[in-house]
Amino acid sequence: MRLNKISHKPIHITFIMLINISMLLLLFRSNMSLNAESSLQIGTMSLPIFSMNGVIQLVMFLGCILITCISFRIGARLSYGLMIFLLIYDLFGIVHTKSLGPLPGMINALLCIAAIFVISKQFSLQEKESITDYVTGLYNMRGFLDTLQEKIAKSSPFTVVYFRIDNFRMINDNLGHDMGTRLLFEVSRELTDLTHGLGTVCKIGGSEYALVLAAEYDLESLRYGMKKRFGGKVALEEGDYPVYCYPRVYAGAVRFPEDALDASTLIKYADLALFHAMKAHANSLVCFDKEMGQEVLRQNELEGIVKECLAGDYFYLMYQPQYDTRSKELRGFETLIRTLLPNGTSAAPADFIPVAEKTNLIIEVDNYVLKRALTEMVDYISNYVEPIILSINISANSISRDDFADHVEEVLKETGFPADRLELEITEYSLAESESMTIENIGKLRKIGVKIALDDFGTGYTSLAQLVKLPINLLKIDKSLIDEIESSEKSRDFVNVVIYMGHLMDCDVISEGVESQMQVDLLREQNCDYVQGFVWDRPLYYEAAVAMLERRK
Ligand code: C2E
Ligand code: MG
Ligand code: MG
Repeated sequence: MRLNKISHKPIHITFIMLINISMLLLLFRSNMSLNAESSLQIGTMSLPIFSMNGVIQLVMFLGCILITCISFRIGARLSYGLMIFLLIYDLFGIVHTKSLGPLPGMINALLCIAAIFVISKQFSLQEKESITDYVTGLYNMRGFLDTLQEKIAKSSPFTVVYFRIDNFRMINDNLGHDMGTRLLFEVSRELTDLTHGLGTVCKIGGSEYALVLAAEYDLESLRYGMKKRFGGKVALEEGDYPVYCYPRVYAGAVRFPEDALDASTLIKYADLALFHAMKAHANSLVCFDKEMGQEVLRQNELEGIVKECLAGDYFYLMYQPQYDTRSKELRGFETLIRTLLPNGTSAAPADFIPVAEKTNLIIEVDNYVLKRALTEMVDYISNYVEPIILSINISANSISRDDFADHVEEVLKETGFPADRLELEITEYSLAESESMTIENIGKLRKIGVKIALDDFGTGYTSLAQLVKLPINLLKIDKSLIDEIESSEKSRDFVNVVIYMGHLMDCDVISEGVESQMQVDLLREQNCDYVQGFVWDRPLYYEAAVAMLERRK
């Protein structure tokens, strides 16, 4: 498939500009050095070579080239206008005086037009490249923003659609980068086709697209097209050895001016609608509605709470004990963050952590929890009779940073906390999205003795191949799986398989969110090593956790 691919000519604008300017300066100098006008006689006509008139013209040409370089659109238009005026003026001069006197001026004006043409062509080529996605030839994020601003300036209604291939990374990893690129081409082509010439398709991220569609475009045809074209397998290579993939695509739509009036709100709402689509079924398209707007307000409020807690030190930590399923001996604690602002406002981590992750404030939050928990617990954990563990939740944003492992090592040194008593909980989600940096960090941390737990297991998309490769110490079965084990045999069997698999991988297995003795009994039967849940202990305040350790000591 050929999309409008851009060629890269190595012509350097600065170089052309310098040649033009130095040519003009040379001519200018020659003009100035002559006092008298010299002329060339052609038959009866005299053709002046140097004149004061010429000097003025050259300054004008230089000015035109300069303003074209400063603002190539307006500058080029102004310069063309001026040069055409001069050409007509000189032509009149020739006709009127019947002498070729103005001819050099005309030649200079033509040269100047040519120079402006070359310069503006180069600038527009550069501009086009800066707004184009190199792989697909579609507009990139900058091109999309420009298109959006242009549309808003015109004030006529339109629709913005955010479109995402959710499992692109997995397809890319499994089938290779070539096939990944082919899928991007295929999606670009299908989307362009689905717009029926009524919109612009932009590629705004690795596997994200934005469509700016005319108001008359019927979103139903996009919804139908998404199901038809991406609902089954997509052929990446035909022939004797065909290659197929099964992309999961989602889209979120927002309308101008009904839903929002400015670019940043339109983008935010389209993103939110996409987020809702991703919570629905694969290949779904969700349109933004006012209730989602309320959610944005709530998200802004939560973002404000996180910022205020960080600035005013209004976070505190609770510690939930984890126990051995058989002996009920203490395994350690999971650290859980809490907020309390002076005005009494608080927010649940399940609500504010996703917002902190979206805004990247989570990096500061995770650093805060790590430092505070290790400082608060170092004496009690290190001096406890048994080697108990302190577990800390770490988000995907933090663990994929290149300085993360070094940072943990630094905090361990600073606080004197023993590395082998620290466990970091990462979610399945962070692995599904994992970059090589995450894996590298896990390797570095394991080397210094830090343990790794895989949190919320059973809710994500970790592939078995990926799981087996990871150096994990503990598999945490998510509460949603535990909830069903009393009532559903299927869930019981599933949990059984997960426990078995964890042991095969040389991991300990813990069930979280255990609320009844019946669940504990079933888990014990199934050889689950540890339990954490309200059945034995809720998250404890720091003082209560410390008192418990003192008592048990
Ligand atoms: P998680 O890491 O899976 O934590 C377990 C959650 O389940 C905690 O909720 C805990 O209070 C709750 N829980 C434990 N046992 C039971 C039970 O028997 N029944 C019920 N209904 N709930 C139980 P919490 O503290 O609200 O935390 C929610 C999520 O927020 C955590 O899930 C974790 O993903 C995130 N989180 C909490 N603290 C931090 C933190 O310091 N840093 C980061 N990055 N994330 C955190
Ligand atoms: Mg956890
Ligand atoms: Mg969990």
